[in-house]
Amino acid sequence: MSTVSDIVVLGSANMDLVAYVAKAPQRGETVTGREFRTAPGGKGANQAVAAARAGARVAMIGAVGNDTFGLRLRSALEASGVVTDRLRTAEGPSGTAHIVVDDQGGNAIVVVPGANAGVTSLTARDEEAVRGAGLLLLQLEIPLKAVAAGARLARAHGVRTVLTPAPVRPLPAELLDCVDLLLPNEHEAAALAGVADPREAALALLERVPEVVVTLGEAGSLWAARGAEPVTVPSPRVRAVDTTGAGDTFAGALAVALTEKRPMPEALRWAAAAASLSVQRPGASASMPYRSEIEARYT
Ligand code: ADP
Repeated sequence: MSTVSDIVVLGSANMDLVAYVAKAPQRGETVTGREFRTAPGGKGANQAVAAARAGARVAMIGAVGNDTFGLRLRSALEASGVVTDRLRTAEGPSGTAHIVVDDQGGNAIVVVPGANAGVTSLTARDEEAVRGAGLLLLQLEIPLKAVAAGARLARAHGVRTVLTPAPVRPLPAELLDCVDLLLPNEHEAAALAGVADPREAALALLERVPEVVVTLGEAGSLWAARGAEPVTVPSPRVRAVDTTGAGDTFAGALAVALTEKRPMPEALRWAAAAASLSVQRPGASASMPYRSEIEARYT
């Protein structure tokens, strides 16, 4: 029997392997690091955790490898309440992100997609989950072919699709034609639209999708829909200690608010409340708030 989900996430799961060093090594150089940490990540898994903690029934479609990282990625999702029976275990390694953080807070990252690269199509069971969902959350860390297949299927069955275009890349019309809401940060919006100003970028992107939300870091977000003036929705003012995963927290919480049929400005304030909580704590998925915390912060 299949369970119905409010939100289905079709995307990536990676293990983040983070080395902290005074100064990142140059080519040919070896440096001694200060600390090493591992943390479950990947934009798909992060958004799934954010949405589940924010109170929705969430299922994740994707793949992990048949290694210990895969076991850990799966159990981390389950610990936050994400249904993982459509998360495949593939032959070979899990996706990994190799991150070097220096004392200036700068970072250099190598992402090896591993099992994520094998998510090229949807199985019949995956399709069943998408058809039954209230909303489909998408990003760009699995092959574009699968993202487009998911979006097409959702569109055919009247399921709302939300796409975070990260890592940013040119997007084919066959994908954008099936996206209801595009959710870039300001850098992604600028890259996709070819114009730096977020408002101008959002207006340009409205020619390709009916609705755009550009996240603006501590400045909140900008909502643009066809036929209306763009609206800026502020974020609560907080002292940020680690903004990793802020966008994914925002996306997951926004998806929850939208499936609860909250009007967009209210949904954006709710998402900002969630994201502002996450930036006050270290880590990506580890810092994501639970529903009770979001409700307490949301005014
Ligand atoms: P990304 O993490 O994808 O780069 P943003 O930096 O735009 O995305 O952050 C996403 C959301 O997180 C913002 O819209 C905002 O609600 C919240 N946020 C990010 N940084 C801060 C901050 N310093 N203070 C408060 N909220 C923040």
